[in-house]
Amino acid sequence: MQVSVDRDRCCSSGMCVMNAPTVFDQDDRDSLVTARQAVLLPEQFDDVRIAADLCPGRAITVVEDDPAQTGA
Ligand code: SF4
Repeated sequence: MQVSVDRDRCCSSGMCVMNAPTVFDQDDRDSLVTARQAVLLPEQFDDVRIAADLCPGRAITVVEDDPAQTGA
């Protein structure tokens, strides 16, 4: 799974940081989202999916791995 953020859509709500604090942070200058990492660990998947679902700006994009390529 990979995640990316669109700072142009972010409204600085902080919901993503509350739901996935190991993955997301907010910029000290403008409070817009930053991603701490792009490629995620399996134990982070559920929190990131929740963060993406609850993001009021629809600023988080999650790309699920293709099971055909991972053998999952
Ligand atoms: S939840 Fe969405 S709108 Fe809120 S800070 Fe995170 S990316 Fe920005």
